[in-house]
Amino acid sequence: MKRITVAKGDGIGPEIMDATLSIIKAAGAQIEIDEVEVGEKVYLAGNTAGIAKESWDIIRKNKIFLKAPITTPQGGGYKSLNVTTRKFLGLYANIRPCVSLHPFVKTKHPEMDIVIVRENEEDLYAGIEHQQTDEVVQCLKLISRPGCEKIVRYAFEYAKQYGRKKVTCFTKDNIMKQTDGLFHQVFDEIAKEYPTIENEHWIIDIGAAKMADTPEVFDVIVMPNLYGDVLSDVAAQIAGSVGLAGSANIGEECAMFEAIHGSAPRRAGQNLANPSGLLQGAIQMLNHIGQTEVAEKVQNAWLKTIEDGIHTYDIFKEGISKQKVGTKEFAEAVIGNLGQKPSQFKAVSYANGAALNLPKYQRKAPKLKELLGVDLFVHWTGSSADELAEKVQQINTSEVQISMITNRGIKVWPDGFSETFCTDHWRCRFKPLEGKSLDKQQIIHLLGAAHEKGIDVVKTENLYAFDGKPAFSLGQGQ
Ligand code: NAD
Repeated sequence: MKRITVAKGDGIGPEIMDATLSIIKAAGAQIEIDEVEVGEKVYLAGNTAGIAKESWDIIRKNKIFLKAPITTPQGGGYKSLNVTTRKFLGLYANIRPCVSLHPFVKTKHPEMDIVIVRENEEDLYAGIEHQQTDEVVQCLKLISRPGCEKIVRYAFEYAKQYGRKKVTCFTKDNIMKQTDGLFHQVFDEIAKEYPTIENEHWIIDIGAAKMADTPEVFDVIVMPNLYGDVLSDVAAQIAGSVGLAGSANIGEECAMFEAIHGSAPRRAGQNLANPSGLLQGAIQMLNHIGQTEVAEKVQNAWLKTIEDGIHTYDIFKEGISKQKVGTKEFAEAVIGNLGQKPSQFKAVSYANGAALNLPKYQRKAPKLKELLGVDLFVHWTGSSADELAEKVQQINTSEVQISMITNRGIKVWPDGFSETFCTDHWRCRFKPLEGKSLDKQQIIHLLGAAHEKGIDVVKTENLYAFDGKPAFSLGQGQ
């Protein structure tokens, strides 16, 4: 018997959760349930996190969390409970299978069978944002080696466990050479450990276009957080419907399972909603907790129900569907099919389905870190880079001098173009002169001198080389 935490959520949440639980219990799931309240009521009671401390205690104790969608009230500083839960519980891997149910659910992509593996904790979702000048705000994109290693290894182990043939990586490392570059590099390193699984990398823009056009050429796709967020919805939608996809959020200790859609408040309380997305999440949960036979039984009964043409309104199509049913009746039909296999779809087998056991991340030996320069970011409302260069040259020392100024990454001094549009946010790159070196004391001195000259430094960024390899971007045009 496994004790799990369940939240029924808002909108259609309670109906689809009741349907899901009735199906998996009828299939023999060995679960005991602790229910917690999360979402709208908790938010509106003044808790901006949408969850009480006592609920966290239960979720952390049980470690397995099955969550229905919740309504995040508009405005008012409410934090997304999903993002908070993923980060608090270290749920680094988001797994979304997106498979077409052709010819029973309308899709332009009958052959599609993709699993999106999305990094879930870092990237731009670190949520570290600042306004630095009147005109410029910044969001920090943080990509870590442990983050990349964990998610890429998860993707390959998943492929191995489920007999998938290929893992594809999407990044934009032609532009973001450090952040996406690290993700791609780690992908190449780890791919070598899995010689029997094909691997490939696509630049995300053309990769996404290809996925939307010819999804059948992909199998497992691993991506950093933001790309994965966007493309997993695209993949679910083109497979047939976002209403049919479930998602697993997996960490080293805990895991959360859910539908990918929201709380559909306009459909709430009418016995209309399709419980399939949450049911798919619950099937991932059953596999994760080792109840693979129950998972398999539920999935096969669900596939049979879909091919029998017993459909909720969202996937009902005259000519294809046989019977339009409500949430409860759909659940009853699936329960009635337990023990049966689909005849048109391939029946699933989850004989090897249990939770993946990944090795813990091992920190690597530190590299030799050298300070090569410093970028001072300056808030300045003048329009000519030459004028700013004149101003910052006043803080040059006999050892450290301004070498370049950029505006939004584009080199504007020396030898800038008059056509380049400039905001009030300038990066002034200081480098030691030939034969000199730089230390933190000199940076402090530069900052003091800038302050004295009335230069408004809003941020500094040190420029490093690791093991002799410069690890920072050049100015565009440099
Ligand atoms: P939504 O997914 O709730 O609804 C989008 C459309 O899909 C609607 O037309 C809806 O009727 C339909 N739909 C969704 N699920 C369905 C189902 N199971 N069966 C039949 N039809 C279904 O997206 P939204 O309207 O943008 O968001 C509503 C609320 O849900 C918002 O408060 C949003 O913040 C929240 N939300 C929560 C989650 C989550 O908890 N994981 C995810 C996304 C959105």
